[in-house]
Amino acid sequence: MNQSTLTKTYSSALMPSPLKSNTQSDSSGPNTNVDTQTLEIQWRHVQSRLRTELGEDLYNNWVKPLSLMGADDDRISLAAPTRFVRDHVRTHHGLRIEEIWREMDSSWGSVDIVLNLDASISNAPQAVNVQTDRAAEQSTLGSALEPRFTFESFVLGKSNELAYHAAIRVAEADSVQFNPLYLYGGVGLGKTHLMHAIAQHIRLNRPERKVMYLSAEKFMFQFIRALRYKDTMAFKEQFRSVDVLMIDDVQFISGKDSTQEEFFHTFNALVDQKRQIILSGDRSPSDLEGMEERLRSRLGWGLVADIHPTDYELRLGILQNKVEQGRDSIPEKVLEFLAERITSNVRELEGALNRVLAYSSLVGRPISMEMASEVLQDLLRANDRKVTIDDIKRCVAEYYNVKMTEMDSARRARAIARPRQIAMYMCKQLTSRSLPEIGRKFGGRDHTTVMHALKKVEELRQTDSSLAEDLDLIKRKLNG
Ligand code: ADP
Ligand code: MG
Repeated sequence: MNQSTLTKTYSSALMPSPLKSNTQSDSSGPNTNVDTQTLEIQWRHVQSRLRTELGEDLYNNWVKPLSLMGADDDRISLAAPTRFVRDHVRTHHGLRIEEIWREMDSSWGSVDIVLNLDASISNAPQAVNVQTDRAAEQSTLGSALEPRFTFESFVLGKSNELAYHAAIRVAEADSVQFNPLYLYGGVGLGKTHLMHAIAQHIRLNRPERKVMYLSAEKFMFQFIRALRYKDTMAFKEQFRSVDVLMIDDVQFISGKDSTQEEFFHTFNALVDQKRQIILSGDRSPSDLEGMEERLRSRLGWGLVADIHPTDYELRLGILQNKVEQGRDSIPEKVLEFLAERITSNVRELEGALNRVLAYSSLVGRPISMEMASEVLQDLLRANDRKVTIDDIKRCVAEYYNVKMTEMDSARRARAIARPRQIAMYMCKQLTSRSLPEIGRKFGGRDHTTVMHALKKVEELRQTDSSLAEDLDLIKRKLNG
């Protein structure tokens, strides 16, 4: 394999990309925690995700011809058999491939698509520079930590204060505090950041404590590999010898029964030995559908801390913090504009800032409101489209001519209860809020009430065509 083909990365030509800025600040060394097998399993996972996302035809044309070459540092190389395939994949699928890979294992930097004329003939993956020493790999089952994710760089706000203080407590404590600490919240709100911060704090201040951090997805991959190698004893030993175990995004193992089973045993063994466990998920334990009941209840045993969506002050604080840390300057007005308009999550907010900075430095245009709204057109539009629970309540109340306050009231008269149920139904459909969150926004109702409303409206929608029409009209009003 000719090393020189590896040096030209496509990603630099594709600025601005929020992903790139992450890897630029990533000063972690070579990625030694991955062996050929893991890389192959990850590649297969990326392939199957792309197959679902792209459909069979596109997949066969563009993804299937690629083969895994190997990894070097934090860069993965995929080989394309022709220039044509290489160029097409770089421009159309490169970022997505990178994204999927980094979701699975955030220690990866970039994915390079390179030309390898042999790839069409020999389809066997050739590992380049990949750590294959199994002994070395055993000691590093966990994932690398992002140096940027520390307590110092975490901006405190109302929405995350419980999670933040719980994280600090666990990081500083000598003994087990809440077991487990379960952090949950929507995507991009700082769960992974806090977990890495805990891990780095402990490694710095209590180096004798063994901390292991990994995603639930990685946990599953490791487990499957151990099964294949008939090596589950060693697998168990690894996890059971740690002082602090952190597993990120546990919702991933919903519906994965045997992984859940293994996780459950690991969990119990560690709790019995009074070791600290820290988990994160995108919803509360009780909302984890596809998770075994006994596991769900275990997850809620310790402290469950939720991170709410950000408010304007927090978003502005995060932006200011980032700008202060960097070398760039940017008008306060533009920061306020971003904080006002990019409300979905912090990851997008940071991505927007990075994009504006990258654009300005590449094109040499000063940063202004006008320039920012131009560069961020797509993001701004996507953020605008989001309807809120309040929008829906207001719109439905207006449509059925009931008072907005009746949406929260306890009155059960049909003329009021039905619109309320319809509003709940639309909230589930049009927002990403969970059932308990929706219930809370309707006068503090229980999630089972919301569930009942959803069922009822769904039933009616099938049998009552005028209701189906109502739903359509309301939706159009909301979007219009
Ligand atoms: P999650 O794991 O909840 O999906 P992450 O922890 O990956 O989200 O956060 C996404 C991005 O937003 C990261 O770059 C993180 O540093 C940043 N971020 C989120 N919340 C905060 C915060 N309160 N202060 C500073 N940065 C934050
Ligand atoms: Mg995360």
